[in-house]
Amino acid sequence: MSLVLRGATVFDGETFLENRAVVMDGDRIKAIIAERDVGQSLHVMDLKGGILAPGFIDVQVNGGGGALLNDNPTIAVMQKIATSHRKHGTTALLPTVITDTPDVISSAVSAVRSAIKTGVPGVLGIHIEGPFLDPARKGAHDPNLIRAPTPDDISILTTLDCGAVMLTVAPNVVPAETIATLCKADVKVSLGHSNATFEQAKAALDAGASAFTHLFNAMSQLNGREPGMVGAALSDSRSFMGIIADGFHVHEATLRLALAAAASDRFMLITDAMPPAAGGPDSFDLQGRKVTRKNGRLELADGTLAGSNLTMDEAVRYCVNRLGVPLANALQMASRNPARFLGRNDLGRIAPGALASLVHLDDQLNVMQTWINGT
Ligand SMILES: [Zn+2]
Repeated sequence: MSLVLRGATVFDGETFLENRAVVMDGDRIKAIIAERDVGQSLHVMDLKGGILAPGFIDVQVNGGGGALLNDNPTIAVMQKIATSHRKHGTTALLPTVITDTPDVISSAVSAVRSAIKTGVPGVLGIHIEGPFLDPARKGAHDPNLIRAPTPDDISILTTLDCGAVMLTVAPNVVPAETIATLCKADVKVSLGHSNATFEQAKAALDAGASAFTHLFNAMSQLNGREPGMVGAALSDSRSFMGIIADGFHVHEATLRLALAAAASDRFMLITDAMPPAAGGPDSFDLQGRKVTRKNGRLELADGTLAGSNLTMDEAVRYCVNRLGVPLANALQMASRNPARFLGRNDLGRIAPGALASLVHLDDQLNVMQTWINGT
């Protein structure tokens, strides 16, 4: 059954198209046609203005709507996270489990595998952030659970069979040969939570790592004689960079500098969201430690940032309204760029054959409606 969406400016992932309508057929986009060619026989929905864009893809989301994947790694929790963020334009996501016991991480993997098999809308795979991190840059990760990988860990990680697998590792903890083994098995290795030198980060990129996890946060910084992880990220044109554009994780001047230093098609907006995001409560328990929302920040008792309160639509608005990012680039950072990072040519664009995962935004970039795989 075809459904035609008309009445909005269409952002196809690259350019804005006026007076066009998008024809969906089942889970796919069938065509983009001139509005004047929309017949009366088809099911037509008039969006009455705004922008129709590819749905947002969040590759780092720990929780939302009160749910936390680490706390309860089940399909129901994943569904809750996906549903709460969907109201904010997220139509695809990698539920993210942070450093925890092997049991919790393997339960999260099983839950993602079942979610994909049973068709939980939007779940593309998993992001495992840790536990192979550098304790010197632990952030909110439990230092008692941070460790180096064993050969068993690597053989498990290279045979997960649960959709896309993104793995955040510290390049000064996980050797380049191990990173190469993971990448050969199509694990998307992202570098983060690390005091690695520029050279160590470069060696990891040469081995196949293709992203940096929350640029600037929990990593060695850019200095004159020691470019660090940040310098490696900004200067390496092969890799993607996740950024938390919430006004708390990175100073706006620093983000502007980063955006001026590297091509915009390398940035991915991520939320790093925790349970308070997308309609959750003001505090929650993170592995036995209390995290509280204070003036929009999520903090442990000692003031350490513990994920965010962010949603993808807010991140897009922050980029446009506060950082002055052109709308097209901000929308690409929320959809097309993460789709390219994941190697998903069927997402992040509105084109014949692509999945019909879309977001309708009003002119102030508030989310009006979403479709996932045509629904
Ligand atoms: Zn992190």
